Amino acid sequence: MTKKTCNHENLEFIGSQKAEKGMNKYFRCLDCGGVIVIPENGKTAYFIPKHEEKK
Ligand SMILES: [Zn+2]
Repeated sequence: MTKKTCNHENLEFIGSQKAEKGMNKYFRCLDCGGVIVIPENGKTAYFIPKHEEKK
């Protein structure tokens, strides 16, 4: 099974947000600073890398 997140485990819960289908939970990775979004409905989590700044 492929994980679509980073491989770190030091996650900090930063909040939840209402989505179209239930609530999404947001965690920040304390190692790389990315954000992991976990949908409440059990779908695959996805990962937002920290460094997506426009240059
Ligand atoms: Zn990480």
